[in-house]
Amino acid sequence: MNSSNERCMDNFIDWVESRNADEPEFIQAVRDLACDVYASYSERKAWQSAKVLERLSEPDRIISFRVCWEDDRGDIHVNRGWRVQHCGAIGPYKGGIRFHPSVNTSILKFLAFEQTFKSALTGLPIGGGKGGSDFDPRGRSDREIMRFCQAFMNELYRHIGENTDVPAGDINVGRREIGYLFGQYRRLANTFSGALTGKDIEFGGSHVRMEATGYGLIYFLRCMLARRDQDLETQRVAISGSGNVALHAAQKAIDLGARVITLSSSKGVLHHSEGIPGKEINRVIELRMDSTELLEKIRAAAGGDWHEGEKPWQFECDIALPCATQNELDGEDAKALAQNQCLIVAEGANMPCTETAIEIFKDRKILHAPGKASNAGGVALSGLEMAQNASFSRWEQQRLDEKLLEIMQDIHNQCVKHAGEHDGYVDYHRGANIAAFNRVASAVLAQGIG
Ligand code: GLU
Repeated sequence: MNSSNERCMDNFIDWVESRNADEPEFIQAVRDLACDVYASYSERKAWQSAKVLERLSEPDRIISFRVCWEDDRGDIHVNRGWRVQHCGAIGPYKGGIRFHPSVNTSILKFLAFEQTFKSALTGLPIGGGKGGSDFDPRGRSDREIMRFCQAFMNELYRHIGENTDVPAGDINVGRREIGYLFGQYRRLANTFSGALTGKDIEFGGSHVRMEATGYGLIYFLRCMLARRDQDLETQRVAISGSGNVALHAAQKAIDLGARVITLSSSKGVLHHSEGIPGKEINRVIELRMDSTELLEKIRAAAGGDWHEGEKPWQFECDIALPCATQNELDGEDAKALAQNQCLIVAEGANMPCTETAIEIFKDRKILHAPGKASNAGGVALSGLEMAQNASFSRWEQQRLDEKLLEIMQDIHNQCVKHAGEHDGYVDYHRGANIAAFNRVASAVLAQGIG
């Protein structure tokens, strides 16, 4: 990038920072994209004069609402709920709902921003959005979860619909919560439509949706390895998290011959140098319990050591898959991975690596797949669930798994094409940003100023 373009980019970042001063995660996500796309953006005069990047740095709209609900003792609680509808240029707003005390507008704006570009990479007609609440479901009874989901939907229902905005799950929102949310949507809207994805198979859900993010991550990883004439056989894979993404990624990696040496929770990490047995993963995958308890269950049955308060990145591994949450892997962790000769970091979570960590990966030539590419399997399968709902049909498991594989291969190839290869190194991060931005920017430009 020449120095005048660099100045323009700095001005752009300053502008984003000043408008979103208290939103560090959102600024981080915008900066991450801008650094990779700015050079080509400044060469496309039509994009620049239509201020496409500036427009994409402001969500289409943010809906904020009160969620008032009653617990089992009759006490009333007031939480906040949001839906960020980031960009609908490619299709209906699409993205998960997260219930977690850390949820705020910065987190949801970053997730919705990421989602727009992730959705674009799938090639399907879906846009980007994200929603959630600062509600903490830990320790809550099933009835309390149901009442909270219903209260949340009492407001959300008027803003969503199969052709406007289609929410799905995310952290702490799985099949059970989607069931309660969908039930309330159906009652209020008096319509049975695919306004949510991740539904139970018995009422409009899709095969492979639950597995899709984790399996998709491993399909993407397999493409990265294949370019180096390698496969997953005997690779040591460190995984963080123990939720839907982490467990299904572990399951698929083990099926393909890898050794999964870690899983983690917010409290610590389970390390198993021989590899956690696949049958233990299969056993706990359907259980609904606190993640630390779940890891203790695996440890009790299969052995391994528990490291309280630690993360997985200090252990020797060939491949690291951060599948927990944003900014979980920092500069120190990246240095430890580099020291231990880790070859590949592929993100299962959204923006799990800090900016410093990503710089270290590039510097040490560790291949790094960003979440918007490598974890796009979940939203891709959601797109296929929408297609099935819209056509009143249900596709076979095998067909969906093959489709998922095809989509992940295509995303991988788009990344390689747009990144190029320099001294044998593919900058997947840059390739994903450029490929995704090209699609979204073209759609925004073609639809006029607004
Ligand atoms: N929350 C998931 C993600 O981060 C899935 C979104 C969806 O299926 O709409 O991609």
